[in-house]
Amino acid sequence: MQTKIWLSSPHMGGAEEQFVAEAFATNWIAPLGPNVNGFEQDLSTFLGGHSHVAALSSGTAAIHLGLILLGVGAGDEVICQSFTFSATANPIVYQGATPIFVDSEPDTWNMSPVLLEEAIKDRLRKGKKPKAIIPVHLYGMPAKMNEILEVANRYNIPVLEDAAEALGSSIDGRMCGTMGQISALSFNGNKIITTSGGGALVSADATIAQKARFLATQARDEAPHYQHSHIGYNYRMSNLCAGVGRGQMQVLNNRIATRRAIFGRYAGLLSGRPGISICHEPEGYFSNRWLTTLLVNPAEAGVTREDLRLALEKENIESRPLWKPMHLQPVFEQYPYYGEGVSDKLFENGLCLPSGSNLSEDELQRVFVVIERVLGGA
Ligand SMILES: *Cc1c(COP(=O)(O)O)cnc(C)c1O
Repeated sequence: MQTKIWLSSPHMGGAEEQFVAEAFATNWIAPLGPNVNGFEQDLSTFLGGHSHVAALSSGTAAIHLGLILLGVGAGDEVICQSFTFSATANPIVYQGATPIFVDSEPDTWNMSPVLLEEAIKDRLRKGKKPKAIIPVHLYGMPAKMNEILEVANRYNIPVLEDAAEALGSSIDGRMCGTMGQISALSFNGNKIITTSGGGALVSADATIAQKARFLATQARDEAPHYQHSHIGYNYRMSNLCAGVGRGQMQVLNNRIATRRAIFGRYAGLLSGRPGISICHEPEGYFSNRWLTTLLVNPAEAGVTREDLRLALEKENIESRPLWKPMHLQPVFEQYPYYGEGVSDKLFENGLCLPSGSNLSEDELQRVFVVIERVLGGA
């Protein structure tokens, strides 16, 4: 059996171990320390210098604290992109609030601004104003944020931006992770950079980032003893993990360039093949191309997404269907949904391909051979 080719595996840059060794040498083995501060600074600089960053234990924790800081509580409604990973929606339920799912549009595969407005109008008609809106930039492709923010501002509803997959992506030079009142990043093992596990809450408002750090460290009031006037969480990032993050920040731009180059190689291979399509960047959009994805139209391609996935699996190559929308998930199917079947189709026909920045040329060729065999000559 040939070695396994992964969808997206950790790719160290080299300096990570030095930062971690420094943490050992100085005994900063704790969820605070110089690496945590340094990583937050690095991220803020990368995002353009106007963001305040709180490094946390996960992207999920960032979304959870984001909802808390936007005042989301029991009985509230939160509008959420249906086509996403469950980690976007779970924290809504942690808060005892109700997720209201909205379908995608076909250009970026992310939240439809038109359906978003329909959902808001209908929720208002039913007597409740949504407390927040969570759009997601899936696979690195920015959502239609100008349009989404225009709707959100018109109804005066804050946006919590799930940028977990989109560090380095932008629209007209505006970085993903700086577009919501609050934004969430993830550094899980399969993301474009990793801290093994980790995340960050980002805001242009220094007070919000400060409050996130406060809540993430058990909400201790100023006092010599342990004094609490708020419910706290243990969500801060470890100084060891942050050391990995600082090393990863040194190679982030390089990782983005490599992922985009891999996308380019797939795009070249797939172009002109009937029934096969990929997600293009709208004018002004820049995707970090975290994962390369394709859609198979079985009627035109003569094969299905599953034919391709199973053929890859046989050669020990990991690929994966696109996210199964939340409105189709057993745990979420009882919640309201506004859609017209776009994300259902994406799930049915879409596949994520191996896209890691550490893929070798030989590995890429192994993937190409299978794709060409299944899809036939161009
Ligand atoms: C990875 C991811 C998250 C969660 O991040 P964790 O760090 O794994 O908790 C949230 N949303 C999306 C879209 C993700 O891909």
